[in-house]
Amino acid sequence: MSILDTKIEYLKGVGPTRSLLLNKEVAIYTFNDLLHFFPFRYVDRTKFYKISSIKTVDVDIQFIGKVLNKTIIGHGPKKRLIVNIEDDTGQLKLVFFKRIIWINKYIEVDRKYIVFGKPSVFSNQISFVHPEIELFNQKTSHFKNVIHPVYHSTQKLSSVGLNSKGISKLVFNLLDQVKSSLGENLSIDIIRNQQLIDRSLCFSNIHFPLSFKLLDSAINRLKFEELFFLQLSVIMQNVIRKKRVKSFVFKKVGKSFRQFFYDHLGFQLTSAQKKVIKEIRFDTLSGFQMNRLLQGDVGSGKTVVACMSILLAYDNGYQSCLMAPTEILANQHFEHFQSFAKQLNLNVKLLTGKTKSTDKIKILSGLKMGTIDVVIGTHALVEDSVVFLNLGIAIIDEQHKFGVAQRSLLWHKDNKYPHVLVMTATPIPRTLAMTAYGSLDVSVIDELPPNRRPVITEHKYDKEIMQVYKFIHTQLIVGKQVYIVYPLIEESSSLDYKNLMQGYANIKEIFKKTNFQISMLHGRMKKDEKAKEMKKFLNGDSHIMVATTVIEVGVNVPNATIMIIQNSEKFGLSQLHQLRGRVGRGADQSYCFLMSSNKLTNDAKTRLKAMVESNDGFKIADVDLKLRGPGDVLGTRQSGLLNLKLSSLITDTDILNSARFEVKNLLTYDSTLSKDKHASIKFYFNKYFHHTLKWGSVS
Ligand code: ADP
Ligand code: MG
Repeated sequence: MSILDTKIEYLKGVGPTRSLLLNKEVAIYTFNDLLHFFPFRYVDRTKFYKISSIKTVDVDIQFIGKVLNKTIIGHGPKKRLIVNIEDDTGQLKLVFFKRIIWINKYIEVDRKYIVFGKPSVFSNQISFVHPEIELFNQKTSHFKNVIHPVYHSTQKLSSVGLNSKGISKLVFNLLDQVKSSLGENLSIDIIRNQQLIDRSLCFSNIHFPLSFKLLDSAINRLKFEELFFLQLSVIMQNVIRKKRVKSFVFKKVGKSFRQFFYDHLGFQLTSAQKKVIKEIRFDTLSGFQMNRLLQGDVGSGKTVVACMSILLAYDNGYQSCLMAPTEILANQHFEHFQSFAKQLNLNVKLLTGKTKSTDKIKILSGLKMGTIDVVIGTHALVEDSVVFLNLGIAIIDEQHKFGVAQRSLLWHKDNKYPHVLVMTATPIPRTLAMTAYGSLDVSVIDELPPNRRPVITEHKYDKEIMQVYKFIHTQLIVGKQVYIVYPLIEESSSLDYKNLMQGYANIKEIFKKTNFQISMLHGRMKKDEKAKEMKKFLNGDSHIMVATTVIEVGVNVPNATIMIIQNSEKFGLSQLHQLRGRVGRGADQSYCFLMSSNKLTNDAKTRLKAMVESNDGFKIADVDLKLRGPGDVLGTRQSGLLNLKLSSLITDTDILNSARFEVKNLLTYDSTLSKDKHASIKFYFNKYFHHTLKWGSVS
C-alpha cells in the first residue's frame, strides 16, 4: 500500500471530526484525494499596486501603505473604524465594521502594512472594506511574492476551520509528507518527448505555485496525465471488446419477423434503418455478444429497429426485454407491441414500478418459466427479482436517461450474456463517442423517414402569447393537435406545479367557447389517469395536451403538429430538442414555439437561438457540449468515466492529440505494457483506472 492510500483522518491536522466532513462534503477520503483536490483559482500576491493605479476591480489586490491616521465614528451597529493610508502616489481609506477594538489595536499610525482585498467605491472614493492586513516587514513577510491557492469549501467545512485557508494548510502538511513518495506514472520517453515537468514539482506547483510559468507547466502535465490515461483506457476497452463474449446465435429470419415486415409496418424502411437492421443481424449471427449503441435523432425511427430485433430473437426461441426511461414511454411501447402481438402469437407484458403486486408475481413467474416472450418496462426490469428463462436481447431506449449502475444490473441477469442494444437520440460527436463509448459498436440512423418537413421553430416572448393562441386556433380548426409543455424541474416543486395548473386553467378559459377538448398530464397523476389522458389524445378525442416534461421522450402522436414550450429558458438544449421531436412526426408542417420572459441569461439566449436555427440534433449537441461540457451531456459526470478534473475534451484538443499519439506509440512497442520502463504506467493504470474499464464493459 502506498502512503497515498492512507485515510485522510491520519493526516496531521485532520482527525475524526474533520475527516468525516471531508468525506461527506467534498469526497476526500484518502491522501491521494486531497492531493488531487486542486485549487479552483489563485490569488496573485506577486504583484503590489501603487495606490494611484488602483481602480475598482473584481479581484483581490494588494498594496503597501503607511497609516496616516485612524478614527472610530458612529455608534452601535453603525460604528466603524476608518483608517487613512498612503504611499508615495496617493492615499485611500480602509473601513472596518467588525472586530474594531482588535483591529484598532493592531494598526498603528506611521507604520507600514500590506493591505490585501477588493477595492470598492465608498462616497466617491476608493476604499477597502475589511481587507486582510499584515505588518510589513522586509525580512519576515512571507506573504509577498507568492501565488495563493483558493480551494472550494463549504459552510460545514468552514465551521471546523476548513475554509480555503484551512484546506491549504492541510495540503501543505500533505505535500510535506508525501513529496518523496509521489513516484512517476509516465515513462521517461514520454516525459522527455512532451517536455513534462517532474511529478513532485508538478503537485507542489499546482497547489502552491512558485510562479505562473510553473503553474502552467503543472496544469499542462496534469491535463496530459488525465487525457493520456483516458485514451489508454479507451484503447484497453477496445482490446477487451475484441476478445468478445460468447452469446446466443439468432440463426434464422423467421415467420413473425417476416409477417411484421409485410403486414404491419405500413411503410418502407429508410436505407439507414435497413443498414442498422443488417448490422444487428450480422452481430447476432456471429456467436458473440452484440454491444451496440444506436444513435438516431428524434423521429428517425428507432422503435422499428427495436421491434424487428425483438422479433428476430423471438423467432429463434429467445425472450427479449425493452426498457424505457419513463412510465409513459414504456406504456406507449407496450401499446404499440399489443397492436400486433396477438396476430404474431407474441406474449408481451408490461412491468413498471406501478404494476400491481399480484400481476407482478405472475409476470415474474412467466418470465422465469419462459411463457412470456417480451417484457417492456421501466427500470423495474433491473430489479434482482426479475429472472429470465432465456433472455436473448436487452434493448434500452433513450439510454441517456439511465444510470450506469442500473444498466450494469441488467447485464448480470441470468448469468448469461444477452445481446445488448442501446438506443439514444442524444447525438454524440464522433470523438466523444469514441472516448465515452469505447466498448460499444456504434450505428447511426442518419436519415429521417421521407416526407418529413423540418419543424418551424420560433422564439416568442410571453407577452406575445395571444398571437400564438390565435395561431393554434387556426390549426385546431383544421384538425391538428397541440402540446403545451410546462417545466417541472423537480417532480415535487410546488411552484412549477402551480404554473402548470394556472396554465391549464388559462387554456380552458381561452378555448371555453370552442369544442376543443383539453387534456392534462403530469407526474403526480395516478397511472390509470395518465394512461387515460394519453389515450384520449392519441385517439384524437382531446385536442390540446397541457403537460410537463413527462411527454419528453418517445411519445408519438403524428397528428400533433404544434409544440408550445412555456418558460423555455428553463430547459436544457437536449431537452428542448427532445420536446420539439414530439411534433414533425407526420407529413404535415409542424411548429414549435419557445416562450420565454424577456429576462434571459446569455446561455439561455444561445440555447434558444440554436433551436430556432437548427433542426439537426448533431448541431444542437455540439452547442450543448460547448455550454455544458461532455460529462453533463453524456450523463457520465457521476460515473467517473469522464471525470476530468482539469482537462476539457473540447478546448484541450492539442493535449488530447499529443496524449493519443503517445498512447498509440506506447502500445505499438509494448501492447501489454510488460516492459520494465513501462511498469510505472501499468501500475498507475491498474490502480486508478480499473473502474472505468468495468464501466465500459457494462454499458
Ligand atoms: P424515434 O427514433 O424518435 O424513437 P420512432 O421510432 O418513434 O422515432 O418513429 C417516429 C415515427 O416515424 C413513428 O410514427 C414511426 O411509425 C414513423 N416511422 C419510422 N420509420 C419510418 C419509415 N421508414 N417511414 C415512415 N415512417 C416511419
Ligand atoms: Mg423513441
